[in-house]
Amino acid sequence: MLVVATTNPHKLDEIHAILAQAGLPGVEVVGLDRWPDLPEPPEDGDTFQANALQKARFVHQRLGLPVVADDSGLEVDALGGAPGVRSKRYTPQATADSNNTRLLRELLGVEDRSARFRCVLALVTDRGEATADGSCEGCITSSPRGAGGFGYDPLFEPRDHPGRTLAELSPDQKNAISHRGRAFRQLPALWARLG
Ligand code: IMP
Repeated sequence: MLVVATTNPHKLDEIHAILAQAGLPGVEVVGLDRWPDLPEPPEDGDTFQANALQKARFVHQRLGLPVVADDSGLEVDALGGAPGVRSKRYTPQATADSNNTRLLRELLGVEDRSARFRCVLALVTDRGEATADGSCEGCITSSPRGAGGFGYDPLFEPRDHPGRTLAELSPDQKNAISHRGRAFRQLPALWARLG
């Protein structure tokens, strides 16, 4: 069994779909919803890698099972890499709507709208630890479009699908090019060593 240390149902759906294609044969992949009494893992590091390791170690210590955690976010060049590791809590409300509204406000009149999503995963098992990362380059639109995905997806046009936001792609199209897809397709190789 492999525990995915997330309570975000969108992330979990994407990870299930990515791993169903990338192949972890015979491994049951389960989310943290199985352990409703487990406290929320901390994530107060300054980097995606530190946060991913922090979350995975926290859950591994408590459950004694192999754990993979994902820490991810959006880096906008004109904002010096913000919101970055603070992507989830870019506004006090921490909702996709409020975060997206703030991002558009910060970029009002800004010409360079280049950005990237980044994802770092950390695998922690009794046999050791490993990390892998993935990124997805693109730019920020001037208004939201599309109903798919989650978070900042309606504002992000990936370079691989010019003129469309991530929220306008099918789940398979998003996973094929996303930061999360690129990171989690490396998981079977890490699992072969540590699983
Ligand atoms: P985490 O749970 O600390 O990794 O927070 C990640 C945050 O980054 C999410 O709450 C979203 O705001 C944003 N994010 C990460 N991945 C994606 C994605 O694939 N699409 C849109 N937003 C994302």
